[in-house]
Amino acid sequence: MRRDYYAVLGVVSTAGPREVRHAYQRLARQYSPDINFWDAQARALFEEIAEAYRVLSDPAARAMYDRFGAGVLGDGALPAGRRGEDAHVAVELDFSQVVRGARVQLDVQRFSPCGACGALGQAGGARCAACAGRGVRQQRERVDVAIPAGVDTGAQIRLAGEGHAGPFGGPRGDLVVSTRVREHPFFRRKGESVHCEVPISVWEALLGARIRVPTPAGEAVLVVPPGATGGQVFRLRGQGLPRLADEGTGDLYVTIRVEMPTGLDARTQDLVRQLERLMPAEPRAALARFRGGGA
Ligand SMILES: [Zn+2]
Repeated sequence: MRRDYYAVLGVVSTAGPREVRHAYQRLARQYSPDINFWDAQARALFEEIAEAYRVLSDPAARAMYDRFGAGVLGDGALPAGRRGEDAHVAVELDFSQVVRGARVQLDVQRFSPCGACGALGQAGGARCAACAGRGVRQQRERVDVAIPAGVDTGAQIRLAGEGHAGPFGGPRGDLVVSTRVREHPFFRRKGESVHCEVPISVWEALLGARIRVPTPAGEAVLVVPPGATGGQVFRLRGQGLPRLADEGTGDLYVTIRVEMPTGLDARTQDLVRQLERLMPAEPRAALARFRGGGA
């Protein structure tokens, strides 16, 4: 976004021509390319200062700028080829699209060079009617966007040179894509870690088992040790989501839920009673000392 010309020169909007000139001279000395040749930031600032002065020192251009802003200033007032502004667009992604990354096509409302006047802003000596003399027109265009694997809600992907076209043939600004990732019915995500809950049978809990569990990228085998209990969490390393900033992948945390059999018939009830006799259990024996508030 282009800064306000008055702010660039550090003067108030009612500043007279002398004040504008003095402010420009002081800043131009300070940011002169002669003494800041290797400083890219200073050089960019110098260009900004020069542009602001070109407009504010010209009474006609300044009056236009005061009324309409920098967008309407035609040739003569502004150097051709000013960079366009950044365009913004939002995208909703499925969980599966952030697992491996995806290519999406987005409809972007952005300024593009006016075809009627060849981005010149004028035709046959008069202002171009199609673009009102700006050299650019607002259009809806399809842009191909690569979504990197691992993005989360609230991420911003910047595509250089895909934003609004600058007036009079200026280069495009950037396109900033804001992401929102839809919830998944099974996987819950915390950054690059993924959590899920997997049911096992009471027999698998008692005897241990190798079970297949879904992962964001496919499937993995989880080894449940004998005597596993409900609520126990197992970590599968590297089975989460790719990390955006650095190499590697997060982990998948699987919480076990033990499903108790229901609707036992007479025969199975009898078998369970036999088991009870084989393995008598007193799980609440240690609670006896708390009776009546004892400790
Ligand atoms: Zn035009």
